Amino acid sequence: MRAIDILAKKRDGGVLSREEIGWFIEGYTRGEIPDYQASAFLMAVFLRGMSKQEIVDLTLAMAHSGDVLDLSDISDYAVDKHSSGGVGDKTSLVVLPLVAACGVPVAKMSGRGLGFSGGTIDKLESIAGYNVNLSGEEFRRIAKENGLVLAGQSASLAPADAKLYALRDVTATVPSLPLIASSIMSKKIAAGANGIVLDVKYGCGAFMATADDARALARIMVDIGVGAGRDVIACISNMNQPLGRAVGNALEVREAIATMQGDKTAADLREHCLEIARFMLKLYGRGSRWGDERETRAYLESQLDGGAALGKFRQMVQAQGGDVGMVDHPERMPQARIVESFTATQGGYVSTIAADDMAWAAFELGAGREKKGDPIDLAVGVEVLVKVGDNVAAGQPVVKIHANDERKVEACKARLSDAFAYSQAKVDPLPLFEDVISSV
Ligand code: URA
Repeated sequence: MRAIDILAKKRDGGVLSREEIGWFIEGYTRGEIPDYQASAFLMAVFLRGMSKQEIVDLTLAMAHSGDVLDLSDISDYAVDKHSSGGVGDKTSLVVLPLVAACGVPVAKMSGRGLGFSGGTIDKLESIAGYNVNLSGEEFRRIAKENGLVLAGQSASLAPADAKLYALRDVTATVPSLPLIASSIMSKKIAAGANGIVLDVKYGCGAFMATADDARALARIMVDIGVGAGRDVIACISNMNQPLGRAVGNALEVREAIATMQGDKTAADLREHCLEIARFMLKLYGRGSRWGDERETRAYLESQLDGGAALGKFRQMVQAQGGDVGMVDHPERMPQARIVESFTATQGGYVSTIAADDMAWAAFELGAGREKKGDPIDLAVGVEVLVKVGDNVAAGQPVVKIHANDERKVEACKARLSDAFAYSQAKVDPLPLFEDVISSV
């Protein structure tokens, strides 16, 4: 085979065979196919699209470009979750211990934040000593002993995706449905998942702008799952305002812990977590258990409010070398020096709390990184005290700013001003979920 023939075929709108895709991805992973040809491939896919079968073949080729975890000695059915990324999305911190507290083993790899989107791994590093860099052996041992492990993405899984993603970033080929879907699913398949719950977000704080875009991406990922013999449930969720109240690393961990203590202040986060967890249990049950929605919900609520999920989280922190004193006393996690209120400029119903502006507000304080490897300030961020639809008075605090540098507060406030809009007419709360697309 020759790379140039494969490129010409895709350029002209042809359909690539499994062998051609497999050969190209293998060659690129090994460094035998250069970046300039891989760039041409990405652009051809971006412009021409891919058939369902081509997307499945591309996903599997990327999934098998490195190690594929076999978790069969830990669970006869490995269930995983993935969020397409959002603002204030600390769902994994609650959902994984919650599911594990129901007796379902969870072994998950997560990523770091970049730009305005946060990453679970950064958030966890708010807990002193928590080791996110586990060897394959440690990852498996902790999963086996505790039924729960949460660490950083191993470089040996789906290395083709890591290379291609970096190339997409600099060749204007990121926003392509086949490329996004295969990128996400290849990592889940390489991580050994049999059942995958996808949280596909849309809105100003998400990768996909509209519910229709998110639905289209979700459909492709469900199709990939079916083609690859995996079960997939994809939830389409609204990301036009932050999830929960906290945006910023330690602030988000504190909110997740509070939610696992039964605190219902972040009611939307709690509801979101219960639904994602329910879908994970549904997949795990494979029709013989966890099929009854009301019963499953009631059980999940009892595990969340009764402290079982928090107990599992504490056990996970301990097993991964973290300071459990910070779980028991979350105020010991990094705290910002300056706490300042941002108030409503007018009275009325809150009609917009733009999630992207909120993320940039936290970013201005130092909560995020511009490029890979940049340091972040774990203590800083914003707490959004209201939700779309709430009625507020002029001058009422709507955000609490947590900062470590006075000079950054003004830039943060400018972002916050952009984020809010008010209406004199009543405004409905935003929905959490728009749709569910399922292969089961
Ligand atoms: N997340 C991924 O892992 N890959 C993409 O292409 C987009 C989001």
